[in-house]
Amino acid sequence: MFFNETHEMIRKLARDFAQKELTNEILDTVEETGIFPNEIQEKMAKAGFFGIKIPKALGGAGGDHRAYVAVMEEVARVSGVASLYVSSPNSLCGGPILLSGNDQQIEKYLKPIVTGTKKLAFALTEPGAGSDAGGMTTTAVDMGDYYCLNGRKTFITMAPLCDYAVVYAKTDMNRGTKGISAFIVDLKAAGVSLGKAEHKMGLIGCATSDIILEDVKVPKEDLLGELNRGFINAMKTLDVGRLGVAAQSIGVAQGALDEAIKYAKERKQFGRRIADFQAIGFMIADMATKLEAAKLLVYQAAEKMDNKQNATKEASMAKFFASEICNEICGKAVQIHGGYGFIKEYKVERMYRDCRVFTIYEGTSQVQQMVISGLLLKK
Ligand SMILES: Cc1cc2nc3c(=O)[nH]c(=O)nc-3n(C[C@H](O)[C@H](O)[C@H](O)COP(=O)(O)OP(=O)(O)OC[C@H]3O[C@@H](n4cnc5c(N)ncnc54)[C@H](O)[C@@H]3O)c2cc1C
Repeated sequence: MFFNETHEMIRKLARDFAQKELTNEILDTVEETGIFPNEIQEKMAKAGFFGIKIPKALGGAGGDHRAYVAVMEEVARVSGVASLYVSSPNSLCGGPILLSGNDQQIEKYLKPIVTGTKKLAFALTEPGAGSDAGGMTTTAVDMGDYYCLNGRKTFITMAPLCDYAVVYAKTDMNRGTKGISAFIVDLKAAGVSLGKAEHKMGLIGCATSDIILEDVKVPKEDLLGELNRGFINAMKTLDVGRLGVAAQSIGVAQGALDEAIKYAKERKQFGRRIADFQAIGFMIADMATKLEAAKLLVYQAAEKMDNKQNATKEASMAKFFASEICNEICGKAVQIHGGYGFIKEYKVERMYRDCRVFTIYEGTSQVQQMVISGLLLKK
């Protein structure tokens, strides 16, 4: 209904890639070492996964949001952390530049992201400004030839692996969110340092850290988009970002459901398959039905974006519902595995940990409820 033949071809390509490249052995090593192999990233770049919906003229594959969802879903079905490597260049990292970058910025920053030769982080959150991102205190002061940035960004995905970051900072302290601008900051510039790589519950293999900015001189040409219009750039980027987390959620949830069904058919207790107990069968029915509903929300949001319609509400609904049911489904998949679900050799253990952050990053479930209700109850 939502996908045409091209989308299905892309989905198959992503499924084959994930099954061939993201083997259990590799994923176990990623968990043990915390390092996601460069060779796989290079193969992802070659397959066009880093620029799925970036126009061909800008070095991307020229696909649409549904193609992006299909790839995310298939990769996340096998590995949540691998899907982060796909989502970053397509949404939070490439997105701000695709939205507001001029020709030079696209050439210098976006094209290398698509080929995988450079990495860029999205730095909005601060220690004191998470859900209330507009309450940020990082400042950028116009010094004539350059901007001087000071502040601290927190929980920045891939910061330790990145060359650059899009940093949102206050350029006018008196105008609230209308006084925020976006800057592309070279992470090797003087005055930039990183916090420790955080020890996370899940998504091991994609380092997260703070970015600290102390009197960092950012050249004027690295202002991204118009002065004081940075918050709009961040919010529009997050619309697509939320679609990505929603796709990640249905992917991981499908992976957990697959494992639960397989295990329920294999495991015997009381002389029967546990699948033959109605309690287990009903849990599977519940998981599958909620997953199907989440998929429809995600596909609907993607289709609206492809039709160039405003999809803020739909993206929030998709992210809210898909991330919540993904947590529920992964929890039930662990339950169906009994004690084995608590053991690392079983895939559902990792899925359960990986998906916990889906209801938190890129706007918590409560923030999504604020966005949805705000739009519905607007005066
Ligand atoms: C692994 C990971 C990766 C991340 N990657 C990035 C990144 O790349 N770039 C980036 O900029 N940020 C990133 N983040 C930050 C993430 O987006 C924030 O953690 C998230 O937005 C929540 O902010 P907070 O943690 O400060 O929680 P808070 O905003 O302090 O929220 C705490 C609780 O209060 C609730 N709450 C807050 N305000 C309200 C309200 N008005 N009404 C009702 N409930 C409310 C929240 O829903 C939550 O339950 C990442 C976070 C993690 C954990």
